Amino acid sequence: MELMTLPDSASRKDFIVENGKSYASSFIEEKLKEHLRSYNSDTCENGEESFFVADMGEVYRQFLRWRRHLGKVQPFYAVKCNPDKEVLRLLALLGTGFDCSSRGEIEQVLSIGLDPSRIIFANPCKPPSHLRYARRKGVGKLTFDSADELYKIKKIFADAELVLRIVTEDSSSVCPFSHKFGAPLKSTRRLLEIARELELNVVGVSFHVGSGATDPQVFVQAVQDSRAVFNQALDLGFSPNLLDIGGGFSGESFDAMSQILSEALNTYFSGDIQLIAEPGRYFVSSAFILASNIIARRDVVNEGGHKDYMLYMSDGVYGSFMDCLLSHWRREPRILTSACDKSSSAAINYSIWGPTCDGVDRIIENASFHTLLDIGDWLYFQDMGAYTICLSTSFNGFTCDRRICYVSSEPAASAMLTY
Ligand SMILES: *Cc1c(COP(=O)(O)O)cnc(C)c1O
Repeated sequence: MELMTLPDSASRKDFIVENGKSYASSFIEEKLKEHLRSYNSDTCENGEESFFVADMGEVYRQFLRWRRHLGKVQPFYAVKCNPDKEVLRLLALLGTGFDCSSRGEIEQVLSIGLDPSRIIFANPCKPPSHLRYARRKGVGKLTFDSADELYKIKKIFADAELVLRIVTEDSSSVCPFSHKFGAPLKSTRRLLEIARELELNVVGVSFHVGSGATDPQVFVQAVQDSRAVFNQALDLGFSPNLLDIGGGFSGESFDAMSQILSEALNTYFSGDIQLIAEPGRYFVSSAFILASNIIARRDVVNEGGHKDYMLYMSDGVYGSFMDCLLSHWRREPRILTSACDKSSSAAINYSIWGPTCDGVDRIIENASFHTLLDIGDWLYFQDMGAYTICLSTSFNGFTCDRRICYVSSEPAASAMLTY
């Protein structure tokens, strides 16, 4: 697969215009409306189903931003975050690697023509049949965090390149992982000794600070801990040359985070070490916008004697909003189209619910608008690219297939797309 040559000029900043609204977000809003106009949602079957607009230009800008701020670290995109085929293709052309966690993800990434050396199989607890598949396909970089995984690897894939995943202090992250994965520092020496006895090849160390990390100090500590484990490995006669700093980056905090991280990497890992990362959310979150239709409404009289409204949308926590359930991620609704053309002087309060008959299917507890929203109106939500589509279910008979309308606010990225 041929890689793109990139200009260095495009940046998020270029898209901010005077009135505070970025060019990219006006562009997307227009695309959402254009998509709505392209069919009549009153007569078309399933016309109220929610749909995404995916701006590949945003993925592209995030890539350039990564290169500017963390250029020494090669990103391996975490496929689980959003295995969209256009996202995978674009990132592959830009030259990223891929973090896969299962046979299915490896198959998907290989099917776009990627060389297996650009994949890390970063699930520390791999099903044996998936491990056999990785060996057959030549996907040789694997993570582990326990002795039993080493015994399994010895039996199935003894010449793999192994990366020891260590635990991090991730309690300030939106989705912590350390209660499930990562070797505690007091066990790393023993694990390395076992690897030595089994004549396995340990090539590096990895960690993951949890998804939606908020505290840069956690990264610094993890880099420092990795150094200590590198030294243990050197001590035992391994020649570690790979540090994998995992994922957890978000668009909002990336610039500050990457600055502190770079300093820590310079301090602890100067020299000839391959640095990689496994960002997921960072690349896709802001690239996908979801539009959803109001399918029902109920009024409730509040304590002041005024009416509040419960809005029922065509999408909910069993669909694209599962992360509201899993991590209490707050979502901001915006109005895309409304039949009501005059705004009310007082704010009107709403709660917003999904379409299923389950009581937990609530997306937003309170939102307010100066518009009286009604059945048939459309709302939209930004930052819907990470852990949305891939977590959708068809619970209660509601479909989880969403139309995705691909666009690009960056000409250079448009040229790469297949739609
Ligand atoms: C989920 C996951 C990632 C991606 O995390 P983000 O927070 O989306 O960046 C990276 N590596 C591993 C091993 C993961 O499980």
